[in-house]
Amino acid sequence: MRATIMHRAGDVGIETVPDAHLIESTDAVVRVTRACICGSDLWPYASMEPSEPGQSMGHEAIGVVEDVGAEVRTVKRGDVVVMPFAFSDGTCAFCHEGLHTACVHVGFFGNNGMNGAQAEALRVPFADGTLFALPVGEDDALMPSLLTLSDVMGTGHHAAVVAKVGPGKRVAVVGDGAVGLCGVIAAKRLGAEQIIIMGRHEDRIALAREFGATDVVSERGEEAVERVRELTGGFGAHSVLECVGLGQSTETAIGIARPGGAVGRVGVPQEATMPASQPAFYGNITVGGGPAPVRAYIEELLPDVLEGRIEPGRVLDRTVDLDGVPDGYRAMADRESIKVMVQP
Ligand SMILES: [Zn+2]
Repeated sequence: MRATIMHRAGDVGIETVPDAHLIESTDAVVRVTRACICGSDLWPYASMEPSEPGQSMGHEAIGVVEDVGAEVRTVKRGDVVVMPFAFSDGTCAFCHEGLHTACVHVGFFGNNGMNGAQAEALRVPFADGTLFALPVGEDDALMPSLLTLSDVMGTGHHAAVVAKVGPGKRVAVVGDGAVGLCGVIAAKRLGAEQIIIMGRHEDRIALAREFGATDVVSERGEEAVERVRELTGGFGAHSVLECVGLGQSTETAIGIARPGGAVGRVGVPQEATMPASQPAFYGNITVGGGPAPVRAYIEELLPDVLEGRIEPGRVLDRTVDLDGVPDGYRAMADRESIKVMVQP
């Protein structure tokens, strides 16, 4: 079968690899009908050290179950399923607490040698705990929005939950990528009164406004902090969604939080230390977040997608087949595309 393999920064291509097959009795094999290129795939695309076997890429998918192991109970051959970016057993203490990304058996697709979703098929460990069967056909018109439940919509929602967004809150979203845009959707959905999007790409800002952003801040650094204070009555935002992961964006996120406010971090941190420790301390600002337990959120978000109340699939502004994947990486790295959907 064909799959996307990255060998070093900038070197991503389609290769023939052994067919995905069952290994454990709790596995499923899923034929991928839709996948995505993620903003987080751009980090290795920019900096990956050379690797001879390479890394199979992609962690977001919808597909059709082709085969299941003997112990799989809740999904069956022929089911259309959404696959969260992390696999989880669904039975441990953390899965029961809704923190599937801390599962004692957790693993991440397209990472550390685990097979990736930008491929014709992939093996899914702990199929019962990981996959979620969808009540739609494999070519349903809602596919793009359903696909975002595997990562970006659940991740934007997680940022909003951790940042304690709720009715009447003033919210700021740092980052206008697909996750930031989904963060705007999540903030509006949770009842935010004001939603400030921080970014500078015109097309993304326009989409953010359609999703519910009330204000735009295109400045950076200290100027951005000043601008958000002006827009929030002088005190800053109650809830800040950090959807980038760089030192500067984190510093800005803490800088624009109101005393007693909360910052929800979902951008994958690119640095070992976190800046702005002192402003966070003196402002009594809660700083939290991490890999979103998107498996826990599918049930909550799915009805809004099925009934058209939210349309996160609009962040997918380009579609490619497997041969188009390398150019999809380039287009996202050059900011020509917000997020690329892959139709193998
Ligand atoms: Zn678990």
